[in-house]
This record gives sequence, C-alpha cells and structure tokens, in this order.
Amino acid sequence: MATLFEKIIAREIPADIVYEDERALVFRDINPQAPTHVLIIPKRPIPGIRAVAADDAVLLGHLLVVARKVAEQEGLSEGGFRLAINDGRDGGQTVDHLHIHLLGGRALGWPPG
Ligand code: 5GP
Repeated sequence: MATLFEKIIAREIPADIVYEDERALVFRDINPQAPTHVLIIPKRPIPGIRAVAADDAVLLGHLLVVARKVAEQEGLSEGGFRLAINDGRDGGQTVDHLHIHLLGGRALGWPPG
C-alpha cells in the first residue's frame, strides 16, 4: 500500500511543496516544530535508513545537496539549521518513507528528548 508520502508525490494528497526535481521532493511539515520545518524525501520509496543499500549512496548524497539548496531558499544559511532522520520505533519514525527533517529559524535544543 502506498505511504502517505507516496500519495503526496502523486499529488493525491495536497502538500505545500517548496522544491522538486526528478529525484526529490520537499514540502512543509504539517506539524512544524520550528519556523522552517520541511521534509526532504526521495521520490523512490525507500522505507528508511535501515533499508538503504550501497547503490543508494548517490541518491542519499543528492538529498543532502537538496537540503543545502532549500536551506538557502528558506534564508537559513547564516543562522544555521538542523537535519534529522528518524528511523524505526525508537528513533520516532512515523512514516515509512525515508525523509530528512530540515528545521531552522530558531535556536534548537540538544540533545533531543
Ligand atoms: P517522522 O516522525 O516519521 O520522522 O516524521 C514524519 C513527519 O511527517 C512528522 O513530522 C509529521 O508532522 C509529518 N506529517 C505527517 N502527516 C503529514 C501530512 O499529511 N502532510 C505533511 N506535510 N506532513 C505530514
């Protein structure tokens, strides 16, 4: 069954899309935890980091380059930002389609709770 994020890629569910290319989609999180909170996802449905293979290395690197571009677009280059990938139950993952959270626009605490 298609995950929520596959439905967003297919435009079956609306989302506030801020960037798109042939391999990646970036949209605003529906429940933002910072002034900027977007999700960077591959269009290929990889369930999470535990499912990645050596062949995915180029795609994963591309997602980080996209993160840098979107951070610039969102005006976060000077103040900085955080990228986070939750994986599995203990990591707090709730959608089984790999996604990188990009959070910024305020000082973020560390460590996470
Ligand atoms: P996770 O907890 O798996 O790391 O992150 C999933 C994220 O997806 C959460 O931050 C959650 O707010 C976001 N989310 C869940 N459902 C939707 C939705 O329908 N649209 C958007 N834009 N974000 C969603």
